[in-house]
Amino acid sequence: MKVADIREKFLEFFASKGHTIVPSSSLVPGNDPTLLFTNSGMVQFKDVFTGKDKRPYTRATSSQRSVRAGGKHNDLENVGYTARHHTFFEMLGNFSFGDYFKENAIQYAWELLTKVYGLPAEKLYVTVYQEDDEAYNIWNKQVGVPVERIIRIGDNKGARYASDNFWQMADTGPCGPCTEIFYDHGPDVWGGPPGSAEEDGDRYIEVWNLVFMQFDRSADGVLHPLPKPCVDTGMGLERIAAVLQHVHSNYEIDLFQALIKAAAREITAQGNLVELGNNSLRVIADHIRACSFLVVDGVIPGNEGRGYVLRRIIRRAIRHGYKLGCRKPFFNAMVRDLVAEMGEAYPELAKAAAQVQSILKAEEERFFETIENGMAILDSALGALPAGGTLDGETAFKLHDTYGFPLDLTADVCREREMSVDEAAFDEAMGKQKQQARAAGKFKMDADLAYSGVATEFKGYDALELSNAKI
Ligand code: ATP
Ligand code: MG
Ligand code: MG
Ligand code: MG
Repeated sequence: MKVADIREKFLEFFASKGHTIVPSSSLVPGNDPTLLFTNSGMVQFKDVFTGKDKRPYTRATSSQRSVRAGGKHNDLENVGYTARHHTFFEMLGNFSFGDYFKENAIQYAWELLTKVYGLPAEKLYVTVYQEDDEAYNIWNKQVGVPVERIIRIGDNKGARYASDNFWQMADTGPCGPCTEIFYDHGPDVWGGPPGSAEEDGDRYIEVWNLVFMQFDRSADGVLHPLPKPCVDTGMGLERIAAVLQHVHSNYEIDLFQALIKAAAREITAQGNLVELGNNSLRVIADHIRACSFLVVDGVIPGNEGRGYVLRRIIRRAIRHGYKLGCRKPFFNAMVRDLVAEMGEAYPELAKAAAQVQSILKAEEERFFETIENGMAILDSALGALPAGGTLDGETAFKLHDTYGFPLDLTADVCREREMSVDEAAFDEAMGKQKQQARAAGKFKMDADLAYSGVATEFKGYDALELSNAKI
């Protein structure tokens, strides 16, 4: 089943259960100034859940374009390192606004996975929140999942991809337990079941998260039952596609294979040989989606806020192309391949294609002017370090300031060579430069402001970042 069919089947299934099909909203959230990017299907319905907004329906379904490359959810550092994380992905979801609750939500999910998509039940594992006996019993008694495949999970266990089965919108407000569905890709892939020490691996892949909003948390931390509990679910389209196409990695699905081939075509056009399994091709294929859709939704590469996240992703893609031997723009040419893959589902992409390509091209041309000299400096600095060494902050700052290397790009190169970068010293060098500029009376206000935005951006984010962003 191709990605397009999987998406359609999902929406059709929930439409047949009385859900209204709602189009994906923009990656730039229209109703939430604290959020960097739309990172899940529920974002466009946030006010519906809290009751501030009313819709003519109580059941909805969508395939939401989502980006997790900054802010609270940031998977940028996972791309190229796991088989299942993207910066841009589509989240399939069904939503109940005070309509059905746990029982239907679980039964719908099971019916879709086992009957419509035809997955073998014994490959599916589920987690429930520690205290959620209700969900546990529905899975066990009504659906018939044996206790060996139901795992109770607490909150904030602290693992790298901690299975946190209690969801909350913020410190106060709607919240509740989740139940997640995992698929076992089999013993050929490293990893353990959720909640185990090996859960970081790619063997047991989380495909679907069902969130049960049943409480309202007040400022004193007390949970008050909501009069009309809601359901919010999210399933990664690329992950379920990998399962249905019998491949272990998202990058092996039809859509990604097409983009990987496109990247390889551009690399070889510059006279370089590359194997289709090359990891850099995967990263480039991931990044062309995020970058193109961000431009479609009005984000322009820049030095602050969302524009800087976009610039960072573009430059990371270019750096991977550079690693494969490219010395001139290649990335923007992939826009037409992306349109071929996703233009039908996203007419806005097809419509904006020419503009997207020219914006990416301009950014590429700009970075190709400095990347060669920058990489030479970085290569020689890393070459002088012992194994496992740490790049000094001065060099990282010089690369940033003079050669346009975002800190995370430099850090990524270091990571590839099993080294690291002294981020505190980088911040210090940046602070020193700003002080000197001030002392000299050179108030390059715009650039300065932009760079202070950059400095805070790496640490942790949303609110600060957006206070600097031009939205
Ligand atoms: P993970 O634990 O694998 O990082 P998550 O728990 O952060 O996933 P949720 O916030 O529960 O993910 O999002 C709902 C679903 O969206 C996930 O079950 C998964 O299928 C998909 N998903 C989440 N993050 C990504 C990503 N970066 N790339 C692709 N799909 C994703
Ligand atoms: Mg995650
Ligand atoms: Mg998870
Ligand atoms: Mg989850």
